[in-house]
Amino acid sequence: MTNYDQHFIEHLASLRPPYVPSATGLRVYASEAGGCDRALYYRLKHTDSGEDDHPASVTDAIVWHIGNNLHDEWQTMMGRLYPDNFTGEVKWKFPEPPALPLVSGRCDGLYTDQRDVKLALEIKTMTRWKFEKSVKAGRPYQKHTLQAALSQYMLKAQEVHIVYLCKDWVAPGMGNILEWTFPVHPNIAIAELNREARILKRVKEGHPPPPRMIQGEEITNLDKEPECKFCPFRDLCEMRGA
Ligand code: SF4
Repeated sequence: MTNYDQHFIEHLASLRPPYVPSATGLRVYASEAGGCDRALYYRLKHTDSGEDDHPASVTDAIVWHIGNNLHDEWQTMMGRLYPDNFTGEVKWKFPEPPALPLVSGRCDGLYTDQRDVKLALEIKTMTRWKFEKSVKAGRPYQKHTLQAALSQYMLKAQEVHIVYLCKDWVAPGMGNILEWTFPVHPNIAIAELNREARILKRVKEGHPPPPRMIQGEEITNLDKEPECKFCPFRDLCEMRGA
């Protein structure tokens, strides 16, 4: 076994985003936009059980470290390109305070471009496999569009700016960066906020899990659905049945 320096391991492990139960009760995060209804229900229901609290491996920590650095680099570059109006890490809550938040998010950046259009920036770092799927599709993943759409709507921007950075090839100019800017109709964000609020209500009121649905489509075969492959709630879901 590789003999890692203990301080180095602790440093890497500390880079893992800490799990912080919300002090204001159950809450959905913008990064959960567009996911499985039932997985969100289970995540909310088991938030306080510590079930998703597993120790980080060194590999995990290095992957997060690379992802965090790429995020930071991109934000720094945006700050230089738009020194007068780029703001990084803009938080939002729905509904807005003083109401108790049901959904909260953090936009990677908010800025106004040369067209005088206000954009909500969403940066995603990913493996080559996921990146190439998006290259082939010629568009961002729907989940990421939904997440950016929530920021666009909540922060009163007019367009989303989605950036994909391939973690396996970090040098620029090698086809490892994808970018899109486009407006998303506010109704799309409103529908997603309502979906999340409905699932939260279901948990709070003690109702059973919802059907297996992703973005309005019923999941009929767990083995064929990529989201089910690594779902931490698969056992629960299978026991429950369709
Ligand atoms: S196994 Fe699939 S259908 Fe079941 S909760 Fe997880 S993602 Fe949803």
